[in-house]
Amino acid sequence: MEIENYDIAIIGSGLGGLMCGYILSQEGYKVIILEKNRQIGGNLQTFTRDRVLFDTGVHYIGGLEKGQTLYKFFKYFNLIDKLKLQRMDEDGFEHIYIGDNPIPYRYGMGYEKFKEILKSDFPEEGNAIDTYCEKMQQICNCFPMYNLEEGGSETMIGQDVLYINAKKYFEELTPNVRLQNVLAGTNILYAGDPEVTPFYVHALVVNSYIISSYKLIDGSSQIASLLTKQIRNNGGKIKCLAEVAKLEMDQDNANVAYAVLRSGERISAKNFIASNHPAKLMEMIETDKLRKAYKNRIVNLENTNSVFILYVVLKKDSFPYLNYNIYSYKNEDVWTTATYSKEEWPLSFALFSAATSKNEKYSEALSIMAYMDISELKEWDNTFNIVSREDDRGESYNNFKTEKAEKLIDLVEKRFPGFREKIKSYYVATPLTYRDYIGTYDGALYGIKKDFRDPLRTFISTKTKISNLFITGQNLHMHGVYGVTVGAVMTVGEIIGHNYLLNKIKEANN
Ligand SMILES: Cc1cc2nc3c(=O)[nH]c(=O)nc-3n(C[C@H](O)[C@H](O)[C@H](O)COP(=O)(O)OP(=O)(O)OC[C@H]3O[C@@H](n4cnc5c(N)ncnc54)[C@H](O)[C@@H]3O)c2cc1C
Repeated sequence: MEIENYDIAIIGSGLGGLMCGYILSQEGYKVIILEKNRQIGGNLQTFTRDRVLFDTGVHYIGGLEKGQTLYKFFKYFNLIDKLKLQRMDEDGFEHIYIGDNPIPYRYGMGYEKFKEILKSDFPEEGNAIDTYCEKMQQICNCFPMYNLEEGGSETMIGQDVLYINAKKYFEELTPNVRLQNVLAGTNILYAGDPEVTPFYVHALVVNSYIISSYKLIDGSSQIASLLTKQIRNNGGKIKCLAEVAKLEMDQDNANVAYAVLRSGERISAKNFIASNHPAKLMEMIETDKLRKAYKNRIVNLENTNSVFILYVVLKKDSFPYLNYNIYSYKNEDVWTTATYSKEEWPLSFALFSAATSKNEKYSEALSIMAYMDISELKEWDNTFNIVSREDDRGESYNNFKTEKAEKLIDLVEKRFPGFREKIKSYYVATPLTYRDYIGTYDGALYGIKKDFRDPLRTFISTKTKISNLFITGQNLHMHGVYGVTVGAVMTVGEIIGHNYLLNKIKEANN
């Protein structure tokens, strides 16, 4: 078989892989992206049931208002003018229900609105709310690349902001437990673990949404399609059903020479970028150039929690379109990763209403997420499936899914009486679905878990000890569209020069 030669081979066609492919093909490099799935996009994939479109892993995006940093990145990626976006409700883009309180707390868009609304709910807590907002912005300013300035993870070493625990921060901010919980009420966006999640993770994620929040009309796969088109126009190649099984070193054991596919095909490249889970990358490569201690550290890092997702097709015109998201908690405590128990499941849910150009008034599709531990699915550990195919894990698995789906619907029904009647049909993804579809060990929502106790251990560097092997994607520093975009720019900056690339991004915005 003839071996194909490239300048750059990228493992994975999620947002991270596609963005690296975009920049490098734009710069004239001969690029190939290798994707194990049939569909391009990783978490940007969408799927259809009953002619209704569902997102798998991106429901809304923060920081896309003109002049904001992600807007500037997206302008460079030639996305901003082409995406079909819907600005979310500025008087409450997040609705948080806690315990028996039937009225939701709302997050206003923009810090002024955010403060105004919260202060009307908590009139005694004005100072705490002001302090929180200042701290959020102060922390985000410590991350240079989030402000389009040069500086990788090394600039963060020793910074105090990395060592603050999110839950502790809220406890010290105010004795008002309800306000603490409202401020932490969207923690499923970063799979908040009260014991370990750093406050900077909360700040980077939640700040990006407070400054502006947008939904993608007709699905997040449009990002993948636009990037794909551009990469192909630039002469780049994306190969699907091309799972990389191994990276093979050259004869001198100095550099990676080939990506070896599951099919046996070998792809040769000068540089390799991996956007798959770093622990999986470690399994792919056998060389003493990567020290045992480095490999062990990466392999032993804990991952974020996983989820159970209920995809609901609604009866026609039965449920209004919600231009906001809902986070609902059965009890006072919003840190439900810690209080998770099989018996009491589910303690909370997050609900996202998909924006569609077919119907602006009513919802067609809802995605409802509740934390779930993969250990609940031990029985089916050795089965394999991905979301776009029919189930083949057997009858008992289907029964498990139905049982859990019904429990989750019961909880939603409690919050919104009459909800059940509006369901036309539903489909389910479990931690196993995410494990197989994205290729992680345990269906982790957002890859590696960050830890305030030893934050640098949970930072993955873009560079490795092998000079032509780089890492990108959500495991680098931050997950989410924002985090992965910043990560792609940091990774490619190692190859083409950070300053050069930042200038290109700035030029695209002139
Ligand atoms: C349920 C859910 C909801 C989310 N909601 C939001 C949201 O609303 N907003 C937001 O900003 N973020 C959200 N996120 C996070 C966001 O989707 C991810 O952080 C981001 O898309 C990750 O991009 P990535 O490129 O790092 O990885 P991925 O999207 O995971 O892409 C990795 C790709 O690599 C491929 N791959 C893996 N192994 C191999 C191999 N051996 N060979 C070839 N290919 C391989 C995979 O198939 C996949 O396509 C959500 C995530 C989840 C799971």
